[in-house]
Order: sequence, then C-alpha cells, then structure tokens
Amino acid sequence: MSVILKNAHYIDWKTLSFTRAHLFIEKGKNGKIHFLDDPEKFPLDADILDVQGKLVTKAFAVGHHHAYSALSRGMPAPRKAPRNFYEILKYIWWSLDKALDKDMVEASALATAMACAKAGATFVIDHHASPNFIAGSLNVLSEAFEKVGISHLLCYEISDRDGLDKAQQGLDETASYLEHHQGLVGLHAAFTVGNDTLKQAVELAGKYHAGIHIHVAEDLFDEKDSLKKYHQRVVQRLYSAGALAFKKTILAHCLHVDNTEREIIKNSRVWVVQNTESNLNNSVGFFRSRGLGEHIMLGTDGMHSDMIRSAQAAYFGGQPFDDIDFSEAYRRFRNVHKYLNDNEFIGDGENNLVVLDYDSPTEINADNFLGHFLFGLRAGHVEHVISDGELIVKDRKLKKINEEDVLAFTREQGRRLWEKL
Ligand SMILES: [Zn+2]
Repeated sequence: MSVILKNAHYIDWKTLSFTRAHLFIEKGKNGKIHFLDDPEKFPLDADILDVQGKLVTKAFAVGHHHAYSALSRGMPAPRKAPRNFYEILKYIWWSLDKALDKDMVEASALATAMACAKAGATFVIDHHASPNFIAGSLNVLSEAFEKVGISHLLCYEISDRDGLDKAQQGLDETASYLEHHQGLVGLHAAFTVGNDTLKQAVELAGKYHAGIHIHVAEDLFDEKDSLKKYHQRVVQRLYSAGALAFKKTILAHCLHVDNTEREIIKNSRVWVVQNTESNLNNSVGFFRSRGLGEHIMLGTDGMHSDMIRSAQAAYFGGQPFDDIDFSEAYRRFRNVHKYLNDNEFIGDGENNLVVLDYDSPTEINADNFLGHFLFGLRAGHVEHVISDGELIVKDRKLKKINEEDVLAFTREQGRRLWEKL
C-alpha cells in the first residue's frame, strides 16, 4: 500500500527548504513523492498517517557497514588482549567471522536491518565476511535485509588471509551473486590480498560493471606492508591493478594515505568512506579530508547503524584534524545518495522518508537546521520510516516482521556464536 503523510513539515534534503504539505508517496523502487492539496481527494487505498508537528525528510543510508559483527555486542573478551590494529583483527574479528554459520549470518543481517530501520536508514552498503560460510552468504544477507524492508549494496570480503582456496570461494560467491543482483566486489584490505587475487577481483568488477569495496590505509600497518611486499604504497598498487578505474569503487578509511595517494584518489573520482567512531575505537588515527576531493561519504563500520551519530562524530572528531563545518558534515552525511544515484543503483529513490518527532526547545527552520542536525537530532527521534514507498517502521515498531520473534532468534544465535569463540 502507498502512504500519505498528512500535515507534514517537509524538509527538502538538498535545499533544506521547509514546506507544509500533505505528501503522497508512490510505492516501488525509485518511486516519487507528490504534494497533495485537498485531503478530500486522497486516494483510498493508502496508509494515511497524520504527522502534524513532525518533521519529514529523506531517509538515511549507510555508506560502509559490517552486518556480520552484529552479534558481537556484549561478547566475551578475546583470549589474548590485542596490542595493536593487526591483533584486533586477529584476536577479535577474524575469530568471530570464522565462527559464523548460516543461521548466525541470517541473525546478524536481521539485527542490522532492524537497527538501520529504527535509526532511519533504508539503504545499506555492506562489506561481509564469514570464511566458513561463503557460498550463498550474500543471498542470506539480501533476503534478511529485504524481510525488514532495507535496500542494499552488498559484497563479500575476498581475502587471502585464510588461504587461496578461501579467496577463490570469495571470488565465486561474488560472481554468482552479481549475476542476479546489484553489488560490489569486496576485498578485505591490501595487506591480505595478493596480486593474483587482486587481479581476479578487478576482472570481476569489470565483467559485472561493478566496483571494488576495500579498506584502505586504516592503520599505518597497511602502508608499511605494501611498501615491504610490493614496493608501492597501497593506493598506487590498487591504481596500477585497475581497481580505481571504476567510479563505483569505495575506499574505506584512507587515514594514512600520503599526498600522492590523495591526488590519485581525487583524480580517479572514486569514493572514500569515513568512519570516525571506528577509528577512535581501534586507535588507528584521525581522518583528514584534505586533498581527497569531494567524494567523501560516511559509514558506521559495523559499530552501530545510526547515521546521525556518524555525522555528529565526523563533525566533533574532525575539529582538531579536519576541515569540517556544519554544512560539510551534512554534505558527507548525504553524499551516499549521490554515490547511489550517480551510479544508478536502485532502492534509494525519493520515496524513502523518515518522520522525526523532534521536541526542539527552540525554533527550527531552513536557516538553522544544521545546528539542530548536529547538536539536537538523534536516532531516538525517528518515529516512522518509509522505504520504497512502504511503511516499514510505524510508531518506532517494525511493520514487516515481528520484532520479538527476531530478537529471540538473534539472542539464540548470539549465544551459539559466543560458545564457539
Ligand atoms: Zn570496515
């Protein structure tokens, strides 16, 4: 059923102009929205919600996520305390992802989709790893996301870290998924991907008109490893291999890239995704946008699914290190729509909306919206969410699935996962 939002206070996400209107929202992929004048003439076959006093604007999208880490919250501490970034991967994430089976992947994806929906995000760009359940994993993810009503751009994190056989399985899973879905070719990071695997991944991206999605210079270790093994910095190596020839390519982090690498990224017109809270958590350094060009968007890196929080962290974390003001923080927060739209991905049309119950103590208007965005708004204000013209969250509750059933399933799978660790 399509949706009508009566008495909306609509904020255009590009111009930030405020309009009082009744909105008719078309159902379906990349549907439109229309302003209606006369409530008497509303179509009868629509869900009608009176949103008097609420703000309505475009729903959010996550530029870099890891659904596979969703069941980690509250898990037991690793056997050995990690001392650096490589050990964080080795003792935490690479032991967790190896333990994932089909049910755990499904539970992780459902938990992530649910968290995204409730935080107002209707589109997720995900980077997935489950080395002992590779074949079919992306289908499990996509079906779980769609059950909740979340659109997606997925990839499998191909890597040589568990041997060339696992890398081949990752390449095969990617090819079979891209036959029938929009997606990307995922690579873990330069330091776990040898030249042969890199070459095959770039060939796949070319064949399926996709792009590469990879972690780049998240820690200085990545650059040191690249110089030692390949006598090239990370971005130069990726560029030489052809990975930056696709405008769909996403480079996550880019904290330790030098000026030459920045120049290559900028000229290649690929996208960089910033994940401030994850960088703080791993103590790997601070994001600096200087010289990277305008193609910067924001992600959550599996930490959570709240894009308002990611934008606020980018703004606050950037104060000592980055050139970021109110409008630049908002621009990066919304850039994911430009990435998706310029590359003609489906599922992020105008008919994805959030209704915010924002109890502001002061006036809010087009001129001061960004101040409210960075200092006042939070995911808790998300009351209703419309994805592809369909109501997927109503009164803060999921509409398409039963939350209690999903949570019972995710907790059971969480227990199973922790027992294996
Ligand atoms: Zn990541």
